Amino acid sequence: MPVIKTDKPAYLDVEDVNIFEQSVARFLDDNASREETRRWREQGSVDRVLWRRAGAAGILGVSVPVEYGGAGGDFRHEVVIMRELGLRGAAGFAVPLHNAVVAPYIHGYATEEQKLRWLPGAVSGETVLAVAMTEPAAGSDLQGIKTTAVRDGDVYRINGQKTFISNGLHASLIVVAAKTDASAGGKGVSLLVVEPDKVEGFERGRLLEKMGQESRDTAELFFNDVRVPVENLLGGVEGQGFRMLMEKLPQERMVIAWQAMAMIEAALEHTVAYVKERKAFGKRLLEFQNTQFKLADCVAKATAARVFIDHCTSLLIDGRLDAATASMAKLWITEVQAEVVDECLQLHGGYGYMSEYPIADMYKDARGFRIYGGTSEIMKLIIARSL
Ligand SMILES: Cc1cc2nc3c(=O)[nH]c(=O)nc-3n(C[C@H](O)[C@H](O)[C@H](O)COP(=O)(O)OP(=O)(O)OC[C@H]3O[C@@H](n4cnc5c(N)ncnc54)[C@H](O)[C@@H]3O)c2cc1C
Repeated sequence: MPVIKTDKPAYLDVEDVNIFEQSVARFLDDNASREETRRWREQGSVDRVLWRRAGAAGILGVSVPVEYGGAGGDFRHEVVIMRELGLRGAAGFAVPLHNAVVAPYIHGYATEEQKLRWLPGAVSGETVLAVAMTEPAAGSDLQGIKTTAVRDGDVYRINGQKTFISNGLHASLIVVAAKTDASAGGKGVSLLVVEPDKVEGFERGRLLEKMGQESRDTAELFFNDVRVPVENLLGGVEGQGFRMLMEKLPQERMVIAWQAMAMIEAALEHTVAYVKERKAFGKRLLEFQNTQFKLADCVAKATAARVFIDHCTSLLIDGRLDAATASMAKLWITEVQAEVVDECLQLHGGYGYMSEYPIADMYKDARGFRIYGGTSEIMKLIIARSL
């Protein structure tokens, strides 16, 4: 019996989405056990072969149109993947980033020739996708990026450095934000596709050591006069990168909000089971009124979060989700996540602080959610601007 007892919303309760949910669950039961996810954390990434297996199982590129090899699904299928990964503590396998953050840049903006070139590999798992915006001196302030892409005949020469890039180790197709016109502010930003195996001058830095989310390979990337053909300019027109990023960031924020939501659900399920078992002073923890009140608070917030995220997701599917509302979802649900996970850990006592308990991983992993994909402060700026 789920802890959050909202009905499955009508937009998700559709036959093909339900069938897909079963197949994702089966795939993850076979490939993402607790032992396996702990092993990923220890090695700092998932195994590369897992991407190919996920491709073969029809999980990658599920929203890519069928003419490019995908399943022609939509964000509802991505929600299924995010929930199933999150409920198992397997979110370090960054399929949502690949499927619902990076692939949409390609099927949304690439030329026909580019789509045919890049999307089939992203669906099969031959290619792993990443997006590289952040630099050592520019994160929130994306217009401040220094990486340049200068046209030189039939190539662009890319120079610069990116950091904190998820899928940085495994990525074989990277959407890179760079300035094609350094004097034009946001209008001088373009997105270029770098295929590391096909260029010289590209280097991956070390895997960055993080306080949580250890199984997600996060790396620095260096571009030392990397030459890519002009055909790798996404969409084929310079200066469109900032617009593309701004248009796609609301969906990225929903991806983070959904991953937070799945963690909230998982934390509550683990904790309710724990307090029903564990005894102190001759009683089950659940019998203490403090436990009941803490969990009641958490479940009330989680239920409100779930209703709100379903509302936002329906808007997204209808093409009506605006940037401010997406920012509210990311801001508020990741704040609820932090509160709920912290309370749930407290209810585990000392065991909550031990890595063998999933709640300890959740506590560490949760902290990143209020930072990446736009910090909580930037979410507030976006919301405030809409007032
Ligand atoms: C685990 C992880 C994975 C990531 N994956 C990727 C990835 O795949 N690709 C990618 O491109 N990036 C990625 N990032 C980078 C992430 O998006 C940035 O860290 C984030 O946008 C914040 O930028 P910053 O770190 O430069 O912080 P800064 O921009 O330096 O911000 C520092 C502090 O100042 C605050 N601040 C900044 N500007 C304002 C303002 N105007 N008003 C009020 N407060 C402000 C911020 O809210 C923050 O609290 C990842 C980061 C992490 C931690």
